[in-house]
Amino acid sequence: KVKVRFAPSPTGPLHIGGARSALFNYLFAKRYDGEMVLRIEDTDLERSRPEYEKEIIDSLRWLGISWTEGVDIGGDNGPYRQTERISVYREYVEKLLASGQAYECFCSEEELEKEREELLAKGEMVRYSGKCRYLTPEEREEKLKQGIKPAIRFKVPDNKVYVVNDLVRGKVAFETGNIGDFIIMKSDGIPTYNFAVVVDDALMGITHVIRAEEHLSNTPRQLMLYEALNFKVPEFAHISLILGSDRQKMSKRHGATSLIQYREKGYLPEAMYNFLALLGWSPEGEEEILTPEQINKSFSLDRVSKSPAVFDLDKLNHINQQHIKMLSLDRLKELLRPYLEASPYGEKIASLGPEKYELLVMALRDYLVCLSDIVEHARIILEDIEYEDEALQVLKGEHIKDLLLQFIDEYPPVDGVEEIKQYMKSLVKKTKLKPKDVFMPIRCALSGKTHGPDLPYLISIWGREEVQRRVRKTLE
Ligand code: GLU
Repeated sequence: KVKVRFAPSPTGPLHIGGARSALFNYLFAKRYDGEMVLRIEDTDLERSRPEYEKEIIDSLRWLGISWTEGVDIGGDNGPYRQTERISVYREYVEKLLASGQAYECFCSEEELEKEREELLAKGEMVRYSGKCRYLTPEEREEKLKQGIKPAIRFKVPDNKVYVVNDLVRGKVAFETGNIGDFIIMKSDGIPTYNFAVVVDDALMGITHVIRAEEHLSNTPRQLMLYEALNFKVPEFAHISLILGSDRQKMSKRHGATSLIQYREKGYLPEAMYNFLALLGWSPEGEEEILTPEQINKSFSLDRVSKSPAVFDLDKLNHINQQHIKMLSLDRLKELLRPYLEASPYGEKIASLGPEKYELLVMALRDYLVCLSDIVEHARIILEDIEYEDEALQVLKGEHIKDLLLQFIDEYPPVDGVEEIKQYMKSLVKKTKLKPKDVFMPIRCALSGKTHGPDLPYLISIWGREEVQRRVRKTLE
């Protein structure tokens, strides 16, 4: 049975790249009816924070990703936070020490630095010399007596080639000659990433490791550890880097990088799901606007690309706009309200009443790229008239005053959207003008703009008194 994991380090909020890795794991597990683990890799004690862990979990849940075991829901293979598994790592370190596949290293930071500098000066590859491999028992005793706490290093096998049959990248081979004996447990007893990840993936029964390409270079070290510990090796799939539109590695310069920022701006979770899925994967058809259900059904690693994915904000905006159009009116009303309530229009929205609020949402929905845009677009409805030059030009036309007065005089007693539509039509008939020559001046007189949302909606939201006030203001 397929079992995957997402293993974030809680050293910051969930980024686009992390969210994409989580999603690909989730989609793969879903596709094969498998399981998924959420593990927290918090061995960087200085940078890990519980707040980030919480934020990452919130972001994943918001996106619509769930897991079958993990730090927040427990499971048979816990604990799921690495700092709570130290005794487990210790146990496996002991095994490697006992079998002679690992050794204690007493080198100080200064000594290691010196070694590095000498190698650099000679133009040689920087890697640990392995000098503590050859300490005599007496030398070792002496170091321990001096109170030096050793780190534990793994003995990298000489002259071997490790091959990863990566499900995305194909066959990738690594020679051990380039890899020095590496630390698996630091002198403070905290395991390093490569060691902890292998122990955990093996003990948690992970069958497929799907993660970012930047970890491909760690994979040979991990393969050595699988071998040394006699663990079954999982399948690997390394998914490509995400680049900004300038083809540089995605960073803050390219805009918001954390999922929370997108959520706050009013990107929909289903739109992010759609967009993230397309960062590296492509569906079979041409259609790019896909619901989570459609993606869940068609995702496969075969269609994940080897070349870097490019983060295209315009594409995200387009996808989000389309998903906003797909929302039910009720859902959209609910989602937009907090943005308006937190804006300077909070009071006006509260006093608008439910029917007019609905009209406002109907009038503006097609303009929204993201939910927070509602505030800017509501301006035309909720602020007093701000005249544009073009509109003032229109209002200079002949007979405008007569038209506006007639519009006000015959204004119908019931002003729902339908009634207003009918009324505008009748006005066109009566005046014998072209529809445009009726609608445009009225639009300009009421809103000060030549363009904007459907006029009957605007008129209906404002209502008789406000419409009269606006016309009078314009005629002044
Ligand atoms: N904690 C690692 C990271 O956040 C996980 C890498 C892995 O999936 O093996 O990059």
